[in-house]
Amino acid sequence: MMTGATERCKDLDARYYMPAFTRDLMIVRGSGCRVRDADGKEYIDCVAGIAVCSTGHCHPRVVRAICDQAHQLIHCSNLYYVPNQADLARRLVEITGLSKAFFVNSGAEANEAAIKLARVRTGRRKFVAFKGGFHGRTTGALAVTYKPDIREPFEPLEPACTFVGYGDPGGLRDAVDDETAGVFVEAIQGEAGVIIPPDDFLREVRECCDEHGALMIADEVQTGMGRTGKWLGVQHAGVVPDIVTLAKGMASGFPIGALVAREGLEFMKGEHGSTFAGGPLASAAGLATISVIEEVLPEVGRKGERFRNALASHDPRVRGLMIGMSVGERCRDVQQACAERGVLVNCAADGNLRLVPPLIISDEEIDTVTGVINEVLG
Ligand code: PLP
Repeated sequence: MMTGATERCKDLDARYYMPAFTRDLMIVRGSGCRVRDADGKEYIDCVAGIAVCSTGHCHPRVVRAICDQAHQLIHCSNLYYVPNQADLARRLVEITGLSKAFFVNSGAEANEAAIKLARVRTGRRKFVAFKGGFHGRTTGALAVTYKPDIREPFEPLEPACTFVGYGDPGGLRDAVDDETAGVFVEAIQGEAGVIIPPDDFLREVRECCDEHGALMIADEVQTGMGRTGKWLGVQHAGVVPDIVTLAKGMASGFPIGALVAREGLEFMKGEHGSTFAGGPLASAAGLATISVIEEVLPEVGRKGERFRNALASHDPRVRGLMIGMSVGERCRDVQQACAERGVLVNCAADGNLRLVPPLIISDEEIDTVTGVINEVLG
């Protein structure tokens, strides 16, 4: 039964909000891995804002950092030095092993910035990306995103991009040449359904970029910030990209994104900018988030293995707390049945169930979640 609050919200949404999303529940509270809907029903949240709420919901240290900063200064503009901003940049440089950071407000914006930086520093125009890849909805990020049904209605798009098979080094070598500005690659394809490439693949991308002077742009928007058990997904392959883009898990739900680049790859005065990006609140939330992730990161791989073992009969694809399973056409029904039993999961592309829970999830919560999934999948 729905409460008046949910009904009222659905009614207003139908009348006044553009119908771009498919949604059902109304989440009104969150704490740790648990959320509550407007009817008071509790769920273990393995969606976590799609890999955003890395420290769980309303982590006390993140809440305190945001509140303390809000009492000092909420916004001041990048015309001035911004409290916390350079501290956060330093942390991102440390965890990526790169040289300098630039802040934006989302994953798509981070990839837009990467397109601009690659073009302006290489003087080249073309990009290569992968089939199944997702890099965002703004027009530049969409141009390097594969999914035809979300890209084609908006064509022609810039920049020109060639798509090659994910995990296919031969196709990559055919596509990259001396006019390629950059190659966009996810360490694991998230929106495609948690597709983990062969072990050598990211190293081959690195080599191919080096051979042609193209930039390797690792989109770590979903795989970054500890999600896979290391700070970056590419670190499992021992690869250092030229540019890393980050967003989702950076600040526990406070909007922020970043581009981090190797030495010599920088925006010079006037080449890029943003009114809100890397503001005092976002940067405070980011710093607090990193300090929490640092504590829980050593356990992420082990927790992922607990999921893998418990779900073994469904052939899960697991790296850290990024988990995918092919369940086919029944995916939406499975999602719904899990929600009825108090577990939120979501369907990525092609009938793939995706779990990206907060990194703080407990063993007991993992056991409850996997019990529900096994019961639903039968
Ligand atoms: N890149 C990847 C790998 C993503 O998974 C996403 C979002 O799902 C994006 C970019 C776009 O991020 P945002 O929705 O913050 O623009």
